[in-house]
Order: sequence, then structure tokens, then C-alpha cells
Amino acid sequence: MIKGWGLLWALAKGAWITARHFFVNMFFHTLALFGIKAKRRGAVTIPYPEKRKPLAVRHRSLHRIVPRADGKPRCVACMLCVTVCPSECITVEAAEDPDPDVQKCASRFEVDLTRCCFCGFCVEACPEDAIRMDTGIIELAARSREDLVCGLDRLLR
Ligand code: SF4
Ligand code: SF4
Repeated sequence: MIKGWGLLWALAKGAWITARHFFVNMFFHTLALFGIKAKRRGAVTIPYPEKRKPLAVRHRSLHRIVPRADGKPRCVACMLCVTVCPSECITVEAAEDPDPDVQKCASRFEVDLTRCCFCGFCVEACPEDAIRMDTGIIELAARSREDLVCGLDRLLR
């Protein structure tokens, strides 16, 4: 435990570091304000969650299943995503579709987010463009493991 002069020295050092960051950032923000280009930009603090930084176009967020025009999932239960998934976190059960043009559909489709590593292989492998990771949903905290298993209802929402 730091005591006496050591404590004062540690406090002064901390205050100096904070002040240095403050003035350096203010300097670069002032340059930007006057349109002067500098090697770096001042740090920006985003008051999350009220304000959010836009996600990159290729960012992989929570999965979704793309619906057809009639609202049914576009998935034809080909199992390619299940096969390619390195975390073995996709479960698909196939059923017969009454539409003769479709023939097969998924009666159960689940993504277990407790195991998913968000690699995006499932999206790349899907021949029907039925699964995407473009929802922009990145807050995935849940109170139980069961809540992290996304079924068709949630994926189609
Ligand atoms: S993102 Fe990767 S780990 Fe997650 S479900 Fe798709 S293939 Fe599996
Ligand atoms: S989401 Fe795509 S790859 Fe996965 S089972 Fe359905 S159609 Fe096949």
C-alpha cells in the first residue's frame, strides 16, 4: 500500500497524465476546428448508449434469417451452414415444404450464441442468401444461457 510522499507522488503523476491527454486532445480538436490538417485527430468520447458510433459496413452483428415475400424463411435446410460452422453452434431440422418449387424448409433453426465466434462462414456458405449478420445488434447480453439460443422466431424478427 502506498503511503505518505509515495501517495502524493502517485496522485500527482495521475493528474499529470490526465492533464496531458486533455491538453493534447484539445490542441488537435482546435486545429480541426480551424481546418488545419494534423497527423492525428483528437480523441472523441461517445456517450454510449445514448449515442452510437456507426458500425462498419462489413461488421458482423446478430444473425437474421431472410424471409421470402410470403414471410416464410428463405432457408431450404441444405445444412451447408451447419457443416461449415467451426463452432458447431447451428442446429437445423428439415421438413417438407408444401410448395413444390421449394420442397424443403427448416422446421427448426437455432444459433447458439454462447458458442458462436462470429466468423461469418455461415453467411458465406449459404447458397440461398438466407442467413445474414447485418442486423446491427451488438448488445447480446442475457440472463441465462437459454436466452442466447436464437430460434427461428427471433432470427426472422
Ligand atoms: S458466425 Fe461462424 S461460428 Fe457463428 S454461427 Fe456462423 S459459422 Fe458458426
Ligand atoms: S441458412 Fe442457408 S446454408 Fe443454412 S441450411 Fe438454410 S439455406 Fe442452407
